[in-house]
Amino acid sequence: MLYFDNAATTKPDSSVLDSFMKVNQQYFYNPNSPHAKGVEASRLLQQARNQIKSALNLNDETVIFTSGATESNNMALKGVAYQKKQFGRTIITSVLEHPSVLEVCRALETQGFVLKYVNVTKAGRIDMDHLKSLMSSDVILVTCMHVNNIMGQVQPIEDIATLLKDYPKAHFHVDAVQALGKLPLITQDVDSIALSGHKFNGLKGQGVLILNNMHNIEPIIHGGGQEYGLRSGTVNVPIDVASAKAIRLAEERRSDMMSALVQVNQTLRDFISQYKGVCINSPIDASPHILNIAFPGVRGEVLVNAFSKQGVMISTTSACSSKHAKVNEVLQAMGISTSCILGSIRLSFDINTQHADIQQFKHAFDKVYKEVKELLE
Ligand code: PMP
Repeated sequence: MLYFDNAATTKPDSSVLDSFMKVNQQYFYNPNSPHAKGVEASRLLQQARNQIKSALNLNDETVIFTSGATESNNMALKGVAYQKKQFGRTIITSVLEHPSVLEVCRALETQGFVLKYVNVTKAGRIDMDHLKSLMSSDVILVTCMHVNNIMGQVQPIEDIATLLKDYPKAHFHVDAVQALGKLPLITQDVDSIALSGHKFNGLKGQGVLILNNMHNIEPIIHGGGQEYGLRSGTVNVPIDVASAKAIRLAEERRSDMMSALVQVNQTLRDFISQYKGVCINSPIDASPHILNIAFPGVRGEVLVNAFSKQGVMISTTSACSSKHAKVNEVLQAMGISTSCILGSIRLSFDINTQHADIQQFKHAFDKVYKEVKELLE
């Protein structure tokens, strides 16, 4: 079996699983309990936060543990919008965002916030001139992903952060789910960052929200006041410790893994380009862990099944939106033709992707191509 669906989820690293098991067995205590064992668990939790801070070169930021990036995005976007509503009502996003951002912004719109979409260039990047034109003193929140989960294009986070320095009321939130372990995370002048453990060989059900100012946000979950009052509920120390380990490993391995994936990506691009009618959707400068291609005239679902029969696990546009029949907005915003959108598939790689896998993929690709060749437009 060849697993090329790592943007959907990755295989947990065995040392991360070991940490999870060990902490569950030895430190299952409630870190809020005042007794000696509770204090030990609390210390471990604090160590995990510090490990994340040092792995990501953070300074005064606060690390909040959540259940995943969906929760981190909800917590940041709603929390900031509610906290800042007396200063302004405008929120800026783009259609490129993951549903865990876009749908939150749309929900906020129904609550009286004004939602503006920044244009996207053909390369799938935020149009900075358009963003400048949308900025005003009413903007309280700008949200942008670091790396796109469907095409892999990288957004100009530094440029946006620099622009927003002139708008001190505007909070800048970055969904860095597909960036951690792939690029150096940009934290300078970014107000909050969402991460998800299972995208970098950690565990599902574990997320992080990095916040640079606790006063900018209102809690959306109320209760016992855990996680600095922002996320009430008994803290899952084992999974948070495991996540800190996954972040540390991802950062340590980043450079070697990315050099290997640049080769994998280029080899596949060269190979696929030889096949008439197949197009490569991902821009050339996209993060190499994602390669989006299209067989115009053939449905993505048909291709996923055909590859699956050959033992290759891939996805259509993304696991999160592939169950919905509507044409993908991200690819549409990039000016990609409808047949290239409907016929698109995403290959995504991680630390476990070997150069040797490519040979197996080439055989599978050739077989699938022969099966669907007649349908290609
Ligand atoms: N943002 C991006 C860019 C993603 O790729 C994902 C996962 N597909 C999420 C947010 C949500 O992460 P999770 O499902 O772990 O909450």
